[in-house]
Amino acid sequence: MAKIQMKNAIAELDGDEMTRVLWAVIKEKLLEPFVDLKTEYFDLGLKNRDDTDDKVTYDSAAAIKRLKVGVKCATITSNAARMKEYNLKQLTRSPNGIIREELDGTVFRTPIFVKNINCSVTSWKKPIVLGRHAYGDVYKNCEMKVDGPGKAELVFTSADGKEIRKTIQEMKGPGILQGIHNMDSSIESFARCCMSYALDQKIDCWFGAKDTISKVYDGNFKEIFQRIYETEFKDKFEKAGISYFYTLIDDVVARVMKSEGGLLWACKNYDGDVMSDMIASACGSLAMMTSILVSPNGEFEYEASHGTVQKHFYRYQAGEKTSTNPVALIFAWTGALAKRAELDGTPDLAEFAKKLEKSTLDVIEEGIMTGDLARLAEPAAKKIVNSWEFIDTVAARL
Ligand code: NAP
Ligand code: MG
Repeated sequence: MAKIQMKNAIAELDGDEMTRVLWAVIKEKLLEPFVDLKTEYFDLGLKNRDDTDDKVTYDSAAAIKRLKVGVKCATITSNAARMKEYNLKQLTRSPNGIIREELDGTVFRTPIFVKNINCSVTSWKKPIVLGRHAYGDVYKNCEMKVDGPGKAELVFTSADGKEIRKTIQEMKGPGILQGIHNMDSSIESFARCCMSYALDQKIDCWFGAKDTISKVYDGNFKEIFQRIYETEFKDKFEKAGISYFYTLIDDVVARVMKSEGGLLWACKNYDGDVMSDMIASACGSLAMMTSILVSPNGEFEYEASHGTVQKHFYRYQAGEKTSTNPVALIFAWTGALAKRAELDGTPDLAEFAKKLEKSTLDVIEEGIMTGDLARLAEPAAKKIVNSWEFIDTVAARL
């Protein structure tokens, strides 16, 4: 069989632990036999990020900007335990954080529905797309622990040297402090990315923040969204028969739990981090969710929303063939290849991506699945398989 050709390359960002193991298996069994893969490869494994002082991460982000499409494996965000484990020279930054910042993008996460996995929120009939702001707030914070009484202040020194100073708290004893920020330009991009995506998918766009408590910070998010909506999207939304709707974040949470889905939920960075895990697990498994980083300039990075599945990796290292679900990683590849096909005008590559997704879901709907899904399947799974068996079954079908 002649392999499908790619016109242009995609940026390939390899990662860590169990997802790195499965990454190679997916390429070998599901992609390389069918497609003449063209990628620019970057090793974002923790050791290499440490060795290159994160240069590899910045290089990979630049490649995504240049090539317009990237696919990323899950990566370890280092902490004290990881420093010891990997014998690192420094605490490297979260690579996802760096790439999101470089692309100034918004992350859209959508659960993958299959017939035999029931969503635990029974009212959800259609997927809820979650748009997560990918810049700033607590992900680019400045923190401090103070060990005694004192005055905590917020100080801004403008470029022309003027100072604005506000008291945060007269601290009566030891405590903690945190400074966070966001940029109007990034919030504007976030609003535009969400509204464009909602328009593209023809679904309503909901946004929630806590502007009653955080009148300036969250209030600014609310105002910018409203302004972008009214000046750039209102007409288009009305024509498409969809709506934009702002309410308090706790009200959104309550409404989402009773909605039938089929909407885009725009979330601030931290809300999106937390709520996407809730939606994913309500819909089955963290591995049944796609994740796309979209920049306002039309650059796309496809990834899994789960982590490196550390516990499974240690069992794998001990010789076990784990039953780690590879669906999100497979869909990261199909998403990237389909986008490449769309940008390059290569329908056979688009067709391949579709077939690979269908084969993957068909296998699950036939009752062959990994352990995480077997716990939720109805009717019960016919066969619980390990990751390698699952991928082989998909390959055979393909
Ligand atoms: P995780 O990789 O998301 O896994 C947490 C648990 O969720 C697993 O132990 C497993 O539960 C279940 N799970 C997640 N993905 C699964 C899959 N594909 N198939 C089956 N079960 C799955 O989080 P973690 O193990 O706490 O974090 C490991 C590392 O990932 C951390 O170093 C963190 O920094 C990193 N991380 C990276 C990203 C990213 O790059 N996108 C995102 C989050 C975290 P059971 O053990 O019960 O089977
Ligand atoms: Mg999370």
